[in-house]
Amino acid sequence: MNLILLGPPGAGKGTQAKLLEERYGLAQVSTGDMLRAEVKSGSELGQKAKAIMERGELMPDSIMIAMLGARVAQPDASRGFILDGFPRTVPQAEALDVLLRETGMPLAHVIELQVDDAALVERISGRFTCAKCGEGYHDRFKACRIAGTCDKCGGTEFIRRADDNAATVGARLEAYHRQTAPLLPYYGAQGKLRVVDGMAEMAEVSRQIEAILGAPRG
Ligand code: AMP
Repeated sequence: MNLILLGPPGAGKGTQAKLLEERYGLAQVSTGDMLRAEVKSGSELGQKAKAIMERGELMPDSIMIAMLGARVAQPDASRGFILDGFPRTVPQAEALDVLLRETGMPLAHVIELQVDDAALVERISGRFTCAKCGEGYHDRFKACRIAGTCDKCGGTEFIRRADDNAATVGARLEAYHRQTAPLLPYYGAQGKLRVVDGMAEMAEVSRQIEAILGAPRG
């Protein structure tokens, strides 16, 4: 089963993708994580990505389409994948349609996490992750049980994304509304779009998504 999670930055796509990865055995494909790995490695692509991400703008479609194509050709994607952060523009969605058709990997659902803009700034500015295992936390909504120690792996180092600040969030939301929101009618016309209430508690959002997907097999 191949899925897309759509929604503005801070809607909970990454969190839900991780849960679906565990529960349904799907591969989480996050183009944002892939770009952050490039930035960390200091590659040429990473240097270009760093500047664009800090401005809250989108990377060029051609680069992202090539990156996604290489990623879904990896063996782990053959068991099914969840796209988190791709596509973000209509040309990316069109390229994805071609890729999925050519490789015989049908798209089951496109799930939109609906969240009010007003809630996003607060959600984004407080979030951080464990440097070791990637578990997500939030200053207000999900603190570590023991301050400074990851609940999941005991790690003591945490990362805050460079673009998770009030100044960049505005540009990221603007990019979402202008460039990514047109994907909602695009997938609506394909009969693939399902909407869940991204303002609900994390567990309730998962429940709504699982109601769409059906129980995991096996
Ligand atoms: P994310 O982690 O999905 O919020 O992505 C972080 C940043 O990476 C975005 O603000 C964009 O600058 C860039 N990015 C990630 N995925 C894409 C994409 N599919 N197309 C263009 N830019 C992207």
